[in-house]
Amino acid sequence: MNCPECDAGLGIPDDAVTGEIVSCPDCGADYEISKEGSDVALKQAETVGEDWGE
Ligand SMILES: [Zn+2]
Repeated sequence: MNCPECDAGLGIPDDAVTGEIVSCPDCGADYEISKEGSDVALKQAETVGEDWGE
């Protein structure tokens, strides 16, 4: 699975579990793993205390 932002390989292990956080080695984005059966999805991890300028 690759980073949705920059397409770098995230190297998510087969035994990753829902709620685990992976960080992209390239752009530094954090993603939370969400598993549904054998499908692995990524969602943007909640960032607390960061101002994204919205
Ligand atoms: Zn990335």
